[in-house]
Amino acid sequence: MNAKIIDGKALSEKIKQDLIPTIEALKVKGITPSLTVVLVGEDPASQVYVRNKNNTFIKMGLSSEVVTLPSDISQDDLLAKIRDLNEDPDVNGILVQLPLPQHLDSQLVIQHIRAEKDVDGFHRLNAGALMTGEPQLIPCTPYGIMKMLEDQEVQLRGAEAVIIGASNIVGKPIALLLQKADATVTICNSKTKDLAAHTKRADVLVVATGRPNMISGDMIKPGAVVIDVGINRLDNGKLVGDVNFEEACQVASAVTPVPGGVGPMTITMLLVNTIQATMQQHGLEDLS
Ligand code: NAD
Repeated sequence: MNAKIIDGKALSEKIKQDLIPTIEALKVKGITPSLTVVLVGEDPASQVYVRNKNNTFIKMGLSSEVVTLPSDISQDDLLAKIRDLNEDPDVNGILVQLPLPQHLDSQLVIQHIRAEKDVDGFHRLNAGALMTGEPQLIPCTPYGIMKMLEDQEVQLRGAEAVIIGASNIVGKPIALLLQKADATVTICNSKTKDLAAHTKRADVLVVATGRPNMISGDMIKPGAVVIDVGINRLDNGKLVGDVNFEEACQVASAVTPVPGGVGPMTITMLLVNTIQATMQQHGLEDLS
């Protein structure tokens, strides 16, 4: 089989185009959705991610600011900065770029962001809303994956969905979203026995482990839809996912590439969440 390549870049461009009328309607009301990204330290990968987010927002006519703080900032000073942003009516969305330096407690920092400004969807109120089936701000990567599956018209009701990786930012929320779409969901982790036994029965396989090429073609059910979330930089500089792309293309019916699959969708869903948060803060109807 020659799998269809799911083009995340093209879909994210389409979603961005579809957002333009909403952004313009907000402008007419004098509202420009605004994001503030908090970047602690000088991690080069984080700087690249933050720059990409910033550029995307500016290009779309949204406001985006980066607050860069020293890597040795104290926990108290960082929390005080978050509180200031919570109180600032000109800030609609707050995102703390992860990972934070070791001495800072990421969970504590995230829980300090006011839930209605938590455009990453990591606050426990947003996580809880997802858990109870009434999502508010949905974590961007799982949200983007659902948009891709919807765009591909993948039948989720009754499908076997297997997720490899159980993080709070990808694995767990995508499991909840797939479950809400009536799929039968299995979540695997690094302690799972006989991983291939699970992956081989997946109609929809989502892989988010950060282990380059760990899913080989023989672990994939013929005709499956494979979503590769992993972003791994090899020693030779090449960027690869968690799935062996060439092998997957021989077995699956559709596969996301790395780069150009899930990655672009994540930034686009951050735009969607920031616009949604802005509208909710102004008492306007949400986007969904
Ligand atoms: P994480 O490190 O928080 O969690 C990894 C999960 O994978 C854990 O649950 C672990 O138990 C599981 N795991 C690790 N090795 C395994 C194995 N051999 N078999 C089965 N399960 C295993 O990771 P994360 O934050 O969810 O990110 C995962 C990957 O996705 C990383 O490469 C990250 O860079 C990437 N990512 C990409 C995007 C995007 O926008 N494309 C967004 C977030 C994360």
